[in-house]
Amino acid sequence: MFEEIKDQEKRAAHRSILEGWTERLELLITKASGASLWDDTGREFIDCTSQSFSLSVGACHPQVLEAVQEQMQKFTHLQHVMDSIPLLQLTSLLTEIAPKGLNKVNYCLEGSIAVEAAMKLAIKNKPQGRYFLALEHGYHGRTFATMAISWVPPGGPFPYYKQYVIRVPEAYCYRCAFDLIYPQCGLQCLQFTEHVINRVVDGEVIALITEPVQGNGGQISFPSEYHKGIRKICDKYDIIYISDEIQTAFGMVGEMFAADLYDTVPDILVFGKSIAGGFPLAGVLVRENLQGFDMAEHATTFSHFPLSMAAAVATLQTLKKEKLLERARNKGFYITQRLLKMKEKYEIIGDVRGPGLAIGVELVRSKKNKEPAIGESRDLIEKGLRKGVMFGISKYPGLGNVIKIKPSIKITDAQVDQVLTVFEECIKEIEKSIS
Ligand code: PMP
Repeated sequence: MFEEIKDQEKRAAHRSILEGWTERLELLITKASGASLWDDTGREFIDCTSQSFSLSVGACHPQVLEAVQEQMQKFTHLQHVMDSIPLLQLTSLLTEIAPKGLNKVNYCLEGSIAVEAAMKLAIKNKPQGRYFLALEHGYHGRTFATMAISWVPPGGPFPYYKQYVIRVPEAYCYRCAFDLIYPQCGLQCLQFTEHVINRVVDGEVIALITEPVQGNGGQISFPSEYHKGIRKICDKYDIIYISDEIQTAFGMVGEMFAADLYDTVPDILVFGKSIAGGFPLAGVLVRENLQGFDMAEHATTFSHFPLSMAAAVATLQTLKKEKLLERARNKGFYITQRLLKMKEKYEIIGDVRGPGLAIGVELVRSKKNKEPAIGESRDLIEKGLRKGVMFGISKYPGLGNVIKIKPSIKITDAQVDQVLTVFEECIKEIEKSIS
């Protein structure tokens, strides 16, 4: 049924697709496995995007497919008012591995909806509050509520939904908002956040929302003590701490959750993307003492989707069985070390950031003035693709200068070396063309 498509049908479909994301790639993908994709001409690409960072266990992992196939023979969809075995099994598995104290779960299919669930729960638990604090380069989705707390391309038509959001600069140490250097800065950004809470906000703050590693806004990771500082501020001012782990949970940072890596537990942890090995699932893990939802406050048609839940059970089992957290740490370390060596050699590599396989490389026109190398980054994406490697980019081609290397943890050693070889070739070619 899906073996081939006529050019005419393809062109007609292209004319009808209403775009809302980023530029399309001229690729028709017909097969995926592990960290590889194949197009309709048989060309293989090593995928460093793990398809929006959703495939920590790799594409089409046999155990995930087997679990889904088994459940598919029984039934595919069930209302959320009844039980299914995948729902129950997943819930016990998740609460078992969740950071301490987060032992209530709510599910949905999209990350943005899960973030909205977190926002609604926060409002419910702090009805007297008025504002959400979000980080300057944070990203939490593209629904109305989540867009307001997210980095959006400048000049868009939606800024007027932001009246209950205050944004504060985060510990983006490579480009410090206060022009200071870590650690001598004493984390001025945290002090400023406190200043905003005390002096700027006209009313109480409901919640502070962060991504432990900012993906969409620049693949920015923070010093460990920043996370602890955020937790302290939330405790001090009775603010709900929401950590959006949609990109970081389930292995890519070398731990099950970034909360484990930074030893900082939020009040609400949002998950999505990698949880179900390529099937749609998201949700929130919530501190037990927070009040949950009452009738009709939060429900969506597919919030109990047994196929995705079966996939998630298999994904969590696979992460453990194949020791993928350790593998993410080792591979991440190897790649980051090689990139750091390249940074010494090439003017255009401004910064290399981890952790684990959540790797970002910030490209600049010169190390001294740090002018973002936006066109060059776009060029690197195109060159990489021609050489068989699909790199990711932050803030889309044309707006960002951070190359993302976030492949599935299943990437092989040979593929890792090929990615690094192609990356260096691209960097060399770009430096040559601008010198
Ligand atoms: N939060 C973060 C940190 C994300 O990376 C994303 C997706 N890129 C979202 C929320 C939104 O998730 P979804 O696209 O599944 O709605």
